[in-house]
Amino acid sequence: MFNTNPFQQPGQWYRGNTHSHSTESDGKLPVADRFAAYREEGYDFLVLTDHRKVNDVQAYSTSDFLAISGSEVHPSNPYGGPTYHIVAINIHEPVNCAKMHPNAVLEDIKTQGGEAVLCHPYWCGHTISDYLPLRGYFAVEVYNDTCMGIGKGFSEQAWDDLLDRGGPVLGIAADDSHGTEHDCFHGWVMVKAQELTLEGIMKALRTGTFYSTLGPEIVDINLADNQISVKCSAAQSIVFKSECSRGRRILAPEGELLTEATYSIPDNTKYVRVEVTDETGKKAWSNPFFF
Ligand SMILES: [Zn+2]
Ligand SMILES: [Zn+2]
Repeated sequence: MFNTNPFQQPGQWYRGNTHSHSTESDGKLPVADRFAAYREEGYDFLVLTDHRKVNDVQAYSTSDFLAISGSEVHPSNPYGGPTYHIVAINIHEPVNCAKMHPNAVLEDIKTQGGEAVLCHPYWCGHTISDYLPLRGYFAVEVYNDTCMGIGKGFSEQAWDDLLDRGGPVLGIAADDSHGTEHDCFHGWVMVKAQELTLEGIMKALRTGTFYSTLGPEIVDINLADNQISVKCSAAQSIVFKSECSRGRRILAPEGELLTEATYSIPDNTKYVRVEVTDETGKKAWSNPFFF
C-alpha cells in the first residue's frame, strides 16, 4: 500500500497544503480569503481544517484549483499525554469528538471517506506512547510551519519512532496557517496525480504518491539492484534514513552542492526514506520505501 514510487507514476505534480484555518475557528482570514490566498500563491489545492468544524467549501474550487473540506479534531488522550490534534482530510460532517475514544474518531474519519494525519507531535509533546495505541491514521506531520513560532515545527524523530516501532506511516509538511504571512506558504506537499480532482488527490495522498518540502525539489528517486538513487535541486546534504542506527548522510564537498546521491541498501532493511537539505537549511522529505 505504501510502496508507490511517485517518481514512477504517470500524471503531473500538484502543490497543496493539507492544514489551514479560517475565522470559522482561530484563523485570521475568512474562508473565501484563505482559499484565494493559496490560489493566488500558485497552489493547486488547499484543505480547510478548522478546529472541530467542517465547512462547505465546494464554492471555492475552480477549473485549476481544488478546495477540500476537512477538520482538525481533538479527542482527549487516555494514554497519559496531552489532547490529540488530528487533521481529517476530506470529511463532510463534524466529528463529535468530545466524548469519543481517539480510535473511534479515527474510524469515523475513515467511514466518511477521509484520511487522518497526526499533527505536530513535537509541539504537542506527544511521544510514541501516545501514538502506538492509535489505529487508522495514514500520516504524521514531519513539519508544521505555525509550530515554528516556538521553534517546534520539525517532528522527524516522532515519524522515525513510529516507523521503527509502529507500522508504515507517511510524512507530511504543512503550514497549519492561522495568520496571513508568518505561517503561510512555507511547507507543502507535491502530489503526483492523474488529474486535479478530489478522487485523484485523495488516491495519491493515501498511496504515498507525494513528497513534502519547504522548497527543495526532489526530481527523481529510483530503486534498482538494492540501490536507491536520488536526483534533486542543489543540496548541501542528502540523507538516507532507515530504522534505528541504519542509513547514510552524504554531504557536499566544501564550496560545492549536490544534485544526486546513491545509497546501497543493506540486507534486511525495513525501509528507507530520503531527506534533502539545501544551502539555506530548507528541507524536502520523500516518503519511506518499504522492503
Ligand atoms: Zn493543532
Ligand atoms: Zn491546526
